[in-house]
Amino acid sequence: MSQNPVAPVNSPATPPSEVREKYDALVEQIRTHRDAYYQQDAPLISDADYDALFRELQRIEGQYPILAGQDSPTAEVGGEVSAAFSPVVHASRMYSLEDVFSLEELGAWLTRAQANALRLHPDTPVGWLCEVKIDGLALNLTYRGGKLVRAATRGDGTTGEDVTHNALTIAEIPHELSGTGWPEEFEVRGEVFIGTEDFNAYNAALIAQGKAPLANPRNAAAGSLRQKDPEQTAKRPLRMFVHGLGRNAGLGIANQSQGYELMASWGLPVSPYSRVVTSIDEVNDFITEHGAKRHELVHDIDGIVIKVDDLATQEQLGYTSRVPRWAVAYKYPPEEVQTRLLDIAVQVGRTGRVTPFGIMEPVLVAGSTVARATLHNQEVVKAKNVMIGDTVILRKAGDVIPEIVGPVLALREGNEENLREFTMPTHCPSCGQPLAPAKEGDVDIRCLNAQNCPVQLTERIAYLGSRNALDIEALGYEAAAALTSGPGEDPAGQGGLVLPAGPGPLRNEAELFGLKDRLEDLAKVRVWREKRSKGEGTGKFELVPYFFTRGTAAKPPAPTKMTLKLFDELEKAKEQPLWRVLVALSIRHVGPNASRALATRYGSMQALLEVVDAPGASQELAQIDSVGSIIADAVVDWFAVHWHRQIVESWAAAGVKMRDEVDDSVVKHLQGLAIVVTGTLQGFSRDTAKEAIIVRGGKATGSVSKKTDFLVAGEAAGSKLDKAHSLGVPVLDEHGFSILLDQGPDAARAAALGQTEGE
Ligand code: NAD
Repeated sequence: MSQNPVAPVNSPATPPSEVREKYDALVEQIRTHRDAYYQQDAPLISDADYDALFRELQRIEGQYPILAGQDSPTAEVGGEVSAAFSPVVHASRMYSLEDVFSLEELGAWLTRAQANALRLHPDTPVGWLCEVKIDGLALNLTYRGGKLVRAATRGDGTTGEDVTHNALTIAEIPHELSGTGWPEEFEVRGEVFIGTEDFNAYNAALIAQGKAPLANPRNAAAGSLRQKDPEQTAKRPLRMFVHGLGRNAGLGIANQSQGYELMASWGLPVSPYSRVVTSIDEVNDFITEHGAKRHELVHDIDGIVIKVDDLATQEQLGYTSRVPRWAVAYKYPPEEVQTRLLDIAVQVGRTGRVTPFGIMEPVLVAGSTVARATLHNQEVVKAKNVMIGDTVILRKAGDVIPEIVGPVLALREGNEENLREFTMPTHCPSCGQPLAPAKEGDVDIRCLNAQNCPVQLTERIAYLGSRNALDIEALGYEAAAALTSGPGEDPAGQGGLVLPAGPGPLRNEAELFGLKDRLEDLAKVRVWREKRSKGEGTGKFELVPYFFTRGTAAKPPAPTKMTLKLFDELEKAKEQPLWRVLVALSIRHVGPNASRALATRYGSMQALLEVVDAPGASQELAQIDSVGSIIADAVVDWFAVHWHRQIVESWAAAGVKMRDEVDDSVVKHLQGLAIVVTGTLQGFSRDTAKEAIIVRGGKATGSVSKKTDFLVAGEAAGSKLDKAHSLGVPVLDEHGFSILLDQGPDAARAAALGQTEGE
């Protein structure tokens, strides 16, 4: 995107009045949004929508350059100085950044900047300083005689707001520089932000107190730094990373990246995420790499900034009134958008938990269309202060489940009559039984009719077929719904399968392994499917058999290939290890980790049942690593229910193994060790790597801490590897992992050491 593309030759210099009107309205709109964003720290529209308005303004100005005066938003650094703070004139001006939204646009920008740089210095190849674009707010620090004398926001670029007292509460900002060699006076630029983990914890605490959570880390950071009372600022988990220099005479350096090294040596918090590269391909690699791990960084980013590293070239390329000509920001696709909350409905889960979820006008966010998002429970609905009919902020960070952040309060005005409060239903939408908390004081409301509630049965059957449990590929959600005729409506959520209501062939999971003897019942299962003609949907529906072929006069109906596959996989599932059988039982809180721990400890269902039936069972189970008292109680409670025991008995009678072969040849030399596996290994899947650790007595844990004994890092290991390095946790590659498994920790430590020394 160029700042002011050349107007087409035949375009009139003066815009027609309707263009002028549109232009003026757009300027007005942008100013309103800038005020809400920069002054109130409470935006009314998403960044992506704002960017679209801004680009439209640039497009019109490109066509009619006469409109692009000095008072246009495209010539200004957004943000004015609030009267709440004293104004500070920056020693050297602060700028915004030119944005590009695709790799093509970026390529064009880099090629142009490279040509300009080479014209100035034909013999010097251009070094590109690639950095992450921290989603926070800019702060300018002035050091005089090594002491911090002033901290100011960017403001309009020339004049900022004095927030020195507030900045002094941020632990990362040194009040005095360490080391030597700093100039008498110089300016350091960086970004103040709230880290992702801190932000989530802070919001969780707000929700627990019944307060509305903060919309996003950027606005939270801006609001926190711009408090009138520094004591309030001090309560917020603010941090800062340095990413630039202002006035810097006397530093005696040629490149910005050298500046970072110097600043780090003086104790300034330089961003750890930067790299100098020399080709456009490498810039693209940096973008791809950080796009993939953007949710593993300590803070939110909204893009990548690419700068010409050479300081002399920077000066010569210079600035427009808004942006430097030597830097550009590549923006990732938006992860936060706005949409309308059309309704709040509830769904009943596998364990009977009733969860409200928002139904929204479908909207594209982070690359996929989203129309539903969970709201967890009625307390969360209340704390988020959302009403049906609101415009809401929807966030989807990477692969993370979409989340309704909260309403855009400012848009409620004038829309009150279209808003409705959500009330939790009192009866189960699936079986009609009254809903209640399982225990007094529980926030979650449940359908307690676990045995007979159709939806719960469907969910349990689908879960036991999943990869985490018995791993029966032919038993997905659709087949589970067809077997149980659970929801009585489109269970796949795709409009493809609509079941007539009524009980299915499977009335409980005890009957699971006897399915192949129930062909008559399976043949009766019918589903509504859309008729197709030449591969196209016709909008007309018909009832068709699900587990059987339709059959013809010559060829009677027979089980489909999928049905035969299901029978086959059910036979194979009987040989699954004990931990998978335990997962398949849908005991509350008991997932793969706890199941593995129980299976490793007891080796057979029989041995586990003996413990569960003995006095003091909960205490005994609670002592197992990865179990603890909540899970122990849940296990004991589950086995105390008669129909649960019948499931176990009938599975055993059907031939499910329920016992692990113990391999006595494996030496338990990882006893007591906590090992984390990350990245991709060639010879192990995640599951087999875990298994290998557990059978040797070790603990396979998920996150790296000081207590971690080893990190096993495969290919494309991300933030866990950085963390292990920073905590001094020994890191093993796949070869080192084999040594650990075969020879134990001492040999592995020596291997880890050899590796570090060799680096
Ligand atoms: P910008 O945020 O696009 O880029 C400039 C800023 O990036 C710099 O001032 C600096 O503080 C920051 N930055 C972060 N990491 C950096 C790094 N490594 N190197 C250099 N700078 C780095 O520009 P802007 O003018 O501050 O704001 C424009 C953006 O703000 C828009 O694109 C929009 O997304 C958002 N905005 C939204 C609304 C709204 O209503 N939602 C309104 C105004 C602005």
